[in-house]
Amino acid sequence: MNQISIAIDGPSGAGKSTLARQAAQRLGFVYVDTGAIYRTVALYCLRSGVSAEDLSCVPALLPQIQVDIDYSSDGVQRMMLNGADVSEEIRLPEISMFTSVVSALPEVRQFLLEKQRELARTHDVIMDGRDIGTVVLPDATVKIYLTAAAEARAQRRCAELRQKGIDVSFDEVLRDVQERDYNDTHRAISPLKQADDARVLDTTCLNLGESLDVLVRLIQEGLPDAQRG
Ligand code: C5P
Repeated sequence: MNQISIAIDGPSGAGKSTLARQAAQRLGFVYVDTGAIYRTVALYCLRSGVSAEDLSCVPALLPQIQVDIDYSSDGVQRMMLNGADVSEEIRLPEISMFTSVVSALPEVRQFLLEKQRELARTHDVIMDGRDIGTVVLPDATVKIYLTAAAEARAQRRCAELRQKGIDVSFDEVLRDVQERDYNDTHRAISPLKQADDARVLDTTCLNLGESLDVLVRLIQEGLPDAQRG
């Protein structure tokens, strides 16, 4: 039987991870956070002494990187880098910006492409990222483009970081969001863009619960009859 795959793409901070995870729980799918996979690769590069100004040695590092997703604890995705849990570390703001630079390299995208496709071949997935509907899973059962105004996204990111005790200013976070938007939409390989056949969900004026309800409805509308539940 063919697996069901739901592709959710969109800019940083639109709520993709939170919403995709909760939608996957409601619908009984496996959630794959591809941003976390890219972050894990970027973390390894940073630890190996790579700087954003000189990425020339990144391709040579890739064979040393083993990224695994551990779903053992209650469907929560733990990211394992060469056997060690790095789930918290990959969320640090400096990793966000560095990931956006490292993930523009074609070698890095190629390295992770097959890994993502393999996950979708073997599970019913909700996969979120930047190029899932356009490149990774062009035949996804349902494609959603999840977005929100940059200011709303920065506001949410600030709240999230402050809750974790990380002190940030709104202006700094907004600049970070805008810079990552620019990087992600302007890179030569797999830029962030809406797939022609994606449904758009703009969460600027919606709270989390409302966004989740709309997302689940959009997904259900696109599923084959037998899968709607
Ligand atoms: O989604 P998240 O903010 O965790 O992603 C971190 C960075 O990883 C993004 O800014 C983007 O540059 C990169 N990324 C990507 N392709 C994906 C997922 C994330 O290039 N499928």
